[in-house]
Amino acid sequence: KLPVVVIAGRPNVGKSTLFNRLVGRRQAIVSDEPGVTRDRKEGEALLRGRRVKLIDTAGLEESAPETLYGRMRSSSEEGVAQADLVVFCVDARAGITPVDAHFAAWLRRQNRPVLLVANKAEGRAGTEAAMEAFSLGLGTPLALSAEHGEGIADLMSEIAERL
Ligand code: GDP
Ligand code: MG
Repeated sequence: KLPVVVIAGRPNVGKSTLFNRLVGRRQAIVSDEPGVTRDRKEGEALLRGRRVKLIDTAGLEESAPETLYGRMRSSSEEGVAQADLVVFCVDARAGITPVDAHFAAWLRRQNRPVLLVANKAEGRAGTEAAMEAFSLGLGTPLALSAEHGEGIADLMSEIAERL
């Protein structure tokens, strides 16, 4: 059975973009509209010679802001329960939001291994912004840019090491 890696995070942080990067094909729909992921949510990726099953959590379409956290949780609960590793994504450009913080607190209680990723961290300014994610209490954030392909090799190594 392949180890399961679940990509979680609030809408629009770049989960599907990261998913596509890691599976090496455009399997999930990336949209400027928060939370739009309608097609493939599962794929296989080869990370440093390790085959993994990758899950892009979604199902957050048309969430009202006040229910976003709740929906995020329910759509992630099943995935997180079966995860050998949760890749929790935040948006370095937007900074840490209260929803990120709530979700991080919930994640910490799930007792699953979590790898914290600060996406949209292209360039030097991005790396600095990414450090804000330290405040989530989930360890050192890995700064990367799913869209520009920066930091992806490091992420692949990190995932492979943690499995
Ligand atoms: P999801 O809702 O978390 O699945 O996010 P998506 O993958 O659909 O991406 C949401 C938006 O963020 C899209 O407009 C992407 O092009 C953009 N995006 C994703 N990754 C990056 C990145 O590394 N840098 C920047 N600047 N934008 C990104
Ligand atoms: Mg998506």
